[in-house]
Amino acid sequence: MKNRKFYAERIWDLLYPRHCALCHEILTVKGAVCISGQKTAYPLICPGCKKKAVSVREPKCRKCGKPLPDVRQEYCGDCCRHRRYFDEGIGIFRYDDVMRNSMAYFKYKGRAEYAEYYGAELYCQSIHLLERWQPQLLIPVPIHRRRMAERGYNQSALLARQLSRYSHIPVNETSFRRLKNTAALKKQTPEQRRKSMYHAFSAKPGTVLPERVLIIDDIYTTGSTVNALAKLLKKYGAKRVYFLTVCIGTGEKI
Ligand SMILES: [Zn+2]
Ligand SMILES: [Zn+2]
Repeated sequence: MKNRKFYAERIWDLLYPRHCALCHEILTVKGAVCISGQKTAYPLICPGCKKKAVSVREPKCRKCGKPLPDVRQEYCGDCCRHRRYFDEGIGIFRYDDVMRNSMAYFKYKGRAEYAEYYGAELYCQSIHLLERWQPQLLIPVPIHRRRMAERGYNQSALLARQLSRYSHIPVNETSFRRLKNTAALKKQTPEQRRKSMYHAFSAKPGTVLPERVLIIDDIYTTGSTVNALAKLLKKYGAKRVYFLTVCIGTGEKI
């Protein structure tokens, strides 16, 4: 005998269908799949799409986790050339065409629900690192208030909340602000990007951070955003700054 909650949930599904975060088709409960070996209460992607998202494997940069072409290489070019204020970090998926498309829906087409899939994957694929890093606070990369008004949500904050659901690490969404609206960042060269990130963030007066903090973001490309925020976090008391992103660029030209 099905209870009232069961029927209420089915009606909810009909009214607000969930979509696969990778192919955007409507999901059915029948299609429920495990996320990295863990079962979720409802499906987040369809079974056929499971293999589409490619996780980053070794060899990767020991500082930023970027995939490297050669096993003999320890660090990527960006981490060799530029001072890093973060201590270590990884992006879990390769930023390929599948993820580029998925991220575009997540950020520009209102599919905030995809944060549930990304959040589950972030947790499952970084448990070993969370155990080693022991972060005390999650800090999503802030977005500019104009961007926030257009989009209605900060995608990095949604990711941080999902990760917090699983890891029980608290999230701080209010102490840091993005001062510059770096909308044209994608079109800039890495050098221009680095320059435009100077003083891109500010902190509320009186902010005091715990010793170990973890920055959460959607995409890591040159690392200039994460690096600029990490610099500020260290100024406000963090001794160790780590980062975790859903995607990471595969080449230095990105
Ligand atoms: Zn799908
Ligand atoms: Zn690197």
